[in-house]
Amino acid sequence: MQWSCSEVKENCPICGAESELHFLPYEIPFFGEIMIFTAVCSSCGYRSTDVKVMSEEKMRRCEMVISSAEDLNAIVVRSSLGTIEIPELGVSVEPKRGEAFISTVEGVLKRVEDVVKMLSRDVEGARKKRAEDVLNRIAEIKSGEASMTLIIDDPAGNSAIISDKVKTFL
Ligand SMILES: [Zn+2]
Repeated sequence: MQWSCSEVKENCPICGAESELHFLPYEIPFFGEIMIFTAVCSSCGYRSTDVKVMSEEKMRRCEMVISSAEDLNAIVVRSSLGTIEIPELGVSVEPKRGEAFISTVEGVLKRVEDVVKMLSRDVEGARKKRAEDVLNRIAEIKSGEASMTLIIDDPAGNSAIISDKVKTFL
């Protein structure tokens, strides 16, 4: 595949109109280059983002124990095929086409926090209690009082957690 141009035309997966696909190389220190794809359809407004790890070594599974404030700064690359799991929180974030992101561990926790907060508004009793437990646990993890394991499974190997502490599986 050629990476020399930075824009191509492709058909929108939603409305079929010709839309633009932009790609931008992004260099992560001590890791290598990743490519960020953004498709924007001017016809229906559909937007999607995906990422691709350009290195030879593709990791299908990454695991990292988050146990300090410093660990929260590790960069997380999630392609649109990556599933995020945090077993200690009972949380699993399923992949969704066009919803890739580059963030930090803290950013991932923020996303989980926002979703749990939103869901907890409409529930009562045991489910409310469980949501509150998860939010308390997230607060403890952020302050370094509790630890968690961040796991990303990606069959295409385009997701990564960038840290010395990460365990990877080919
Ligand atoms: Zn469209």
